[in-house]
Amino acid sequence: MFMRVLNKWIQKEPSKNAITILKDRYFLKDGEGNYLESTWDEVAKRIARHVAAAEVNYTNDVEEIKNAEEHFYQLIKSRIFLPNSPTIFNAGKTMDRQLFKKDIEETTLEDYKTIFDSRTKHNMLSACFVIPMDDSMNAIFDAVKNAALIMKYGGGVGYDFSVLRPKGSSIAGTGGKSSGPISFMHVFNTAASTIEQGGARRAAQMAVLRYDHPDVFDFINSKKDNKGNNVLNYFNISVNIDNPKEFKKMLEEDGDLTLEHPASSIRKTIKANDLMNKMVENAWKTGDPGMLFLGRHNQYYAMSEHTPVTATNPCGEEPLPPFGSCNLGSIDVAKLVEDMDLGNPNSDDISEFQEIIYWAVRFLDDVIESNIYPLKEIEEISKKQRFIGLGMMGLADALYIKELPYNSEQARKFMAKLTAELAYFSHIASTELAKERGNFQDFQRSKYPDGFIPFPMLDDEIDEDIKAWNEKIRQHFQGEATKYKRNVQTNTIAPTGSISNLADTSSGIEPNFLLSYVRYMTNKEGDRVPLSYINPILMEKIGTNMTEELKAEIIEKGSIQNIDSIPNEIKKIFVTSMDIPPKDHLLAQHVIQSYLDASCSKTINMPKSSTIEDVKAIYLQALELNLKGLTIYRDGSLETQVLTSASKE
Ligand code: UDP
Repeated sequence: MFMRVLNKWIQKEPSKNAITILKDRYFLKDGEGNYLESTWDEVAKRIARHVAAAEVNYTNDVEEIKNAEEHFYQLIKSRIFLPNSPTIFNAGKTMDRQLFKKDIEETTLEDYKTIFDSRTKHNMLSACFVIPMDDSMNAIFDAVKNAALIMKYGGGVGYDFSVLRPKGSSIAGTGGKSSGPISFMHVFNTAASTIEQGGARRAAQMAVLRYDHPDVFDFINSKKDNKGNNVLNYFNISVNIDNPKEFKKMLEEDGDLTLEHPASSIRKTIKANDLMNKMVENAWKTGDPGMLFLGRHNQYYAMSEHTPVTATNPCGEEPLPPFGSCNLGSIDVAKLVEDMDLGNPNSDDISEFQEIIYWAVRFLDDVIESNIYPLKEIEEISKKQRFIGLGMMGLADALYIKELPYNSEQARKFMAKLTAELAYFSHIASTELAKERGNFQDFQRSKYPDGFIPFPMLDDEIDEDIKAWNEKIRQHFQGEATKYKRNVQTNTIAPTGSISNLADTSSGIEPNFLLSYVRYMTNKEGDRVPLSYINPILMEKIGTNMTEELKAEIIEKGSIQNIDSIPNEIKKIFVTSMDIPPKDHLLAQHVIQSYLDASCSKTINMPKSSTIEDVKAIYLQALELNLKGLTIYRDGSLETQVLTSASKE
């Protein structure tokens, strides 16, 4: 209807694998477990109608609302844009099904109002939350309850445990000693273990602790018990180093670091290098802890002077202030690159991509209204600041199509330009919406009226196109954005762990982990269902040369780098996570993060043979680059790897 590329994708049905996942997790069911839906079309319509109904807040013109619904529907049905999982499984839930079965022509303003007014606690649509706690029993157990409610409806929660006094500190009221933050993390973990998110998946949490908290070593070791067993399985953990440059200097000078806490007399002096070495050693062993640079997050967050961010969501891409929430959505760039010259500031296709982004931003902004929040504090700040996280998925597949090796300078320039374009048009869209609907409530107190740019950007010198995007961005933030902004932040790149499977594309900005695999999904009945996959772009590229024998070899190895019969030009392009040197993962994160006001989910994959020193080199490089955080994973270091090629099973 409104775009050329949509017509191409709208008729394409999800793959068999995608349908299996839809059936297991996303199709609505009645109270007895009977399916109420059986097609992607029904799901797309349900989401579009539920979210468009929020527009009753802005207009009485039913045609305008229908227009929004139609655009949302087309974006979702074509799978060019998908919202985060909670929106997919909770939109329209427990509402009158007849309202969603009506043809759009017959839908009335009253119908939209009924949908909007009949929302219940089951319609929680956001993926990301941060819950605060105080250093008191009451506050800690309130936080456990609040987090449990969020997780029940499908949200991930992050916490800053730094506020809790260290183990062994006195407690005035009882004369006893505190058991410390790590003991409380176990309480949250146990609560999470009893919850199935949205009735469909495991709960996920992030724990953050400052690097100078006296319990920081216990924290770093917290994911193994005394016997070496894995514990705290419902947590990712990150050490917050507020000022990475200063920490790096401390390491270079082999300086001392004082561990202390305002509510405790406990003080310890350690070598900064001892802390670094412990983090690196554990990350080498298990991938945890990650590093988080909240100081940098706050530097690029327009409200940091009033409500600084204190933690991130479980996968690290969304920093939030206490009680903050964010809903995410992702554009599948692999579905667009064949027909659009993405990233090019002078392209003729710009208006089409801009239009996709405008409707995606409008959708996410509508989600803020159509969402039911688990707590009034969350509703308050979410509506005052209006965080949304539009990101992308399918980057690796897009690079295959464009024949750019992920680990090349050319690909990095493309990544930077594409993210700059996404950021620029998302912010333009947020400004357009502000003109119609008003600024986010806290706008005047934010940094935007002063011409603030919410991300670092790359050097103008790198490339003419990058310079052109930088200039457009500067112009926007020094011009219209000083007056109009609907959303405090607009861009986040999620892992898209589930939704990229629904879209049949590569996840987020990650390289493909494997070019082919068999993945087992345990369904509701407890049966293991095999989902087998071979990258369709590779299949097409190899064409008629793809013999059954070759296919079997690719499935066996997961990568094509050691297959003699495949030409080198193809090997260069079709790289996997493990084929790429860690530093190239880091550089990809760097260029992409340079244009994101929130952050991105990115794992620096390292080969199994990497040494502790190799991990340390990456950690040091991350302190130097303008990154907002770091997560590494050494192949084989966790027993429960989700995907394995046939040869590694
Ligand atoms: N998330 C969660 N539990 C999960 C997976 C994800 O709570 O099992 C939350 C978490 O906040 C994460 C965010 O959803 O950072 C986005 O993850 P992803 O993009 O993988 O989710 P999807 O929308 O694809 O399900």
